[in-house]
Amino acid sequence: MDLNYTPEDIAFRKQARTWIEQNLPKKEIRTLEDRLAWHRKLFDAGYLGMGWPKEYGGGGARPMEQAVVADEMARANAPAPTNSLGLGIVGPTIVVHGTDAQKRRYLKKILSAEELWCQLYSEPNAGSDLAALRTSAVDQGDHFLVNGQKIWTSAGAIADWGLLLARTDTKVAKHKGISCFLMNMRQPGVDVRPLKQITGSSEFCEVYMTNARDEKSYQIGKLGEGWAIAQTTLGYELGGRALARITNYASQHSRLVEAAKRMRRHGKPLIEDPLVRQKLGRIWAEIEVERYQALRTLTLLERGEHPGAGGSLTKLSYSELEKRFMELALEILGPYGQLTEGAPKEFQLEIDTAVGERGSWAYAYLWSRAGTIYAGSSEIQKNVIGERILGLPKETRADRVGGKA
Ligand SMILES: Cc1cc2nc3c(=O)[nH]c(=O)nc-3n(C[C@H](O)[C@H](O)[C@H](O)COP(=O)(O)OP(=O)(O)OC[C@H]3O[C@@H](n4cnc5c(N)ncnc54)[C@H](O)[C@@H]3O)c2cc1C
Repeated sequence: MDLNYTPEDIAFRKQARTWIEQNLPKKEIRTLEDRLAWHRKLFDAGYLGMGWPKEYGGGGARPMEQAVVADEMARANAPAPTNSLGLGIVGPTIVVHGTDAQKRRYLKKILSAEELWCQLYSEPNAGSDLAALRTSAVDQGDHFLVNGQKIWTSAGAIADWGLLLARTDTKVAKHKGISCFLMNMRQPGVDVRPLKQITGSSEFCEVYMTNARDEKSYQIGKLGEGWAIAQTTLGYELGGRALARITNYASQHSRLVEAAKRMRRHGKPLIEDPLVRQKLGRIWAEIEVERYQALRTLTLLERGEHPGAGGSLTKLSYSELEKRFMELALEILGPYGQLTEGAPKEFQLEIDTAVGERGSWAYAYLWSRAGTIYAGSSEIQKNVIGERILGLPKETRADRVGGKA
């Protein structure tokens, strides 16, 4: 594992820092239009799709360069770009599995956010057990007819396109009958209904497809390869935000320390309470451990290796840490931590959250639950670690249904 940055990486970081300082939006981002304007600035500067091939609008950059730009964005508390699923999942899927024509048609418009994307994988009875999905795509000769329901579709309400997993064969094993498609969301057969979340926003949706039409040219990979394609795409987000995430935690920690200095309990600043100091110190040490874990992942990616099941260790530890950290924040802040608006400035969070909203501590606390569910819940990550790293016996269906299978 390499803990040192090369002189080139240091120079690159300086250049990215200067650009961000000079171009950071002066006003708070409030609308999708504001965010799109910031997104396009990042795109024009070459800071989006940095690892994608140059011939399709990407930057051909190394994993460390991508991580450094994201890290500098976090350091400056810069707003996130939009089209996160296009950038994080759909684009990389097309880069690896798409035809040359598909790459030319879609990639650049993902980067420039001319077309916004969502991911149509989960269904009401197919989340962790994704292979149980029932949405069907039936071959009609010149196109596919799609019927079914998806759920938890982030950005579904603003998406022009979706990356769809659908069943094309019911006669083979469930993993083998799934195929991958692009889905035009702007058609009469697609009905998108926003879901109100516990945070108060409606960032994800239900999507109903009733005789929706999918052109043959929208198929990604071969029929029946959908499951294998989904397995590669779920692991894409390993390196890109590795350092940025830690920088975010660290700056949230500093804000919490500042808040604890200002708050008073029993006539003294809260920060003088030994228990509060211990808890803040412990969580700081955990954040530092995550920093080394991020550097370990980046070292592997730089060498062209893949962490494999080790990615589950990383995902499990950073998402569970975020949850513990937000629980501590609310414990320390007391009633201030529960306010979604109206808290004095020193007790606000004011940090761009993962979904691009400048949240309160209360918002960030609620959002921290999500990280242990999406992209494979903590329990699923533990199963992977148990089976593939520790070599424990494989989970059976009987285990899952309490011995009743
Ligand atoms: C913020 C957010 C955004 C999302 N965005 C998208 C999106 O854009 N597109 C999309 O397709 N999906 C999206 N999802 C859905 C996400 O992929 C699913 O929520 C996830 O796969 C879990 O599925 P589920 O919700 O059906 O829970 P379930 O799979 O029903 O799990 C319920 C509980 O049982 C546990 N469990 C399940 N199976 C096992 C097992 N084998 N062993 C041990 N425990 C088990 C789980 O850990 C969990 O605690 C999003 C989710 C969230 C929270």
